[in-house]
Amino acid sequence: MRVGVVGGGLTGLTAALDLVRRGHQVTVWEKSPALGGQVRTVSIGDAQLEGFYHHMFASDKALIGLITELGLSSSLQWLPSLVGYYYGGRVHDFTTPVDLMRFSPLGLFDRVRVGMMSLYLRRRNDWRYFETITAEEWLLKKMGRRSYEVIWGPLLRGKFGDSAERISMAWLWGRLHMRLGSRRGGGGERLGYLKGGFGRLIEALGQKVRDKGGSIMTGTSIKRIAVQDRHVAGAISGNGEVFPQDAIIATAPSPTFLGLIPELPREYGELLQQTQYLAALCLILVIKRPFGRVYWLNVGDRSFPFVAVIEQTNFVSPAEYGGKYILYVSNYVPASSPLCAMKPDGLVSHYLPFLQKINPRFDSDWVEQYHVFKEEYAQPIVPMNYSRLIPDMATPIGGLYLANTTQIYPEDRGMNQAVQLGLRVAGLAG
Ligand SMILES: Cc1cc2nc3c(=O)[nH]c(=O)nc-3n(C[C@H](O)[C@H](O)[C@H](O)COP(=O)(O)OP(=O)(O)OC[C@H]3O[C@@H](n4cnc5c(N)ncnc54)[C@H](O)[C@@H]3O)c2cc1C
Repeated sequence: MRVGVVGGGLTGLTAALDLVRRGHQVTVWEKSPALGGQVRTVSIGDAQLEGFYHHMFASDKALIGLITELGLSSSLQWLPSLVGYYYGGRVHDFTTPVDLMRFSPLGLFDRVRVGMMSLYLRRRNDWRYFETITAEEWLLKKMGRRSYEVIWGPLLRGKFGDSAERISMAWLWGRLHMRLGSRRGGGGERLGYLKGGFGRLIEALGQKVRDKGGSIMTGTSIKRIAVQDRHVAGAISGNGEVFPQDAIIATAPSPTFLGLIPELPREYGELLQQTQYLAALCLILVIKRPFGRVYWLNVGDRSFPFVAVIEQTNFVSPAEYGGKYILYVSNYVPASSPLCAMKPDGLVSHYLPFLQKINPRFDSDWVEQYHVFKEEYAQPIVPMNYSRLIPDMATPIGGLYLANTTQIYPEDRGMNQAVQLGLRVAGLAG
């Protein structure tokens, strides 16, 4: 059978590999010049760095399986990672339960309550229980107003902006469950990283698809999916080339997918329209000196124009980047935010005074290079009862399948979930 895959990110490539392995004739179209989607990379000297910070969790079984299958398991490293929280003008360590117990902005009772409730969330497995309540309501009830105002409120507002109050507790459960699950005992957290970067995974995956007879066309944007008698007929690229197919898997975000296929029955189309997204905006600074001590610094001060500062070189050795230090300054904002329209140098100047509040010694002459990465449809907004908004992978058009981040739930989206999604959709399509 001829199966086309729109999108050469992790979901599309995983689906393609599964399909070629089972003897199908597969073509992947990727609009960008390079594969990877949200795992795309940039060259820093001789090294490849993810445009958006990436790590993996010990619980990422599907991803670990793929890495092993591609012969990369000897490059998989489990590295200690330190988490911090910037609040009240200083950085607080936030990696272990002991750090929580020392977190002075909360009184002792609240610290214990946050610790107990976090443990409870880690142990509880029935996420449906959390679907019918917002994270705000649940947290206020179970962890108290002070801890909401100090920790959870700023984090939710940082991640979801004005939509923070609508976010389902099931989303937060998924996120904490995964994160707390990767911690061992009372000690710190180890996160996974592929030596040389996750770009190697994408490269090996693409190569394997090709080795098994699949065709991968980068720089090829699909503009239209052709339908005949309510069944997929093929795909049409931006320059008018027609690719007849028996089935098509689209891994593009829902708004893009809607634009590819006007014939989509109304009900299904309306369901897709209901999910809104926030854009990810990431400034990478290549700097001369270390910025701080922690890998992942959540910023709990909402007067800051960013949500987190992720210092890659407190996770992966700076030696991997020719002795340079790497900082991601991360944000989730509506795509219409003026921040998304700023030129890279404008963004650097805009963020600089805030970075100096965290580290007063930090100066613009530390910055040797900067890069900006944007992803318009990065984070689906997950309100209460989100499970009712998830579109089926099998669309009402015969032979047409959709697999994108809106279907990942209640877990948070991630590479592991992309691999799972790719395998599931390939099973349906072929
Ligand atoms: C800021 C950020 C940080 C992240 N950090 C982590 C992390 O630490 N750990 C983790 O596990 N995950 C992380 N993720 C999530 C992870 O990267 C994604 O969930 C995963 O890569 C999604 O893969 P995908 O293939 O489903 O989608 P995408 O990667 O978005 O792939 C879709 C592809 O389709 C292509 N496409 C779209 N329309 C067309 C068209 N018309 N024609 C042809 N091609 C088209 C796009 O160019 C894209 O390449 C992060 C994501 C972001 C944004």
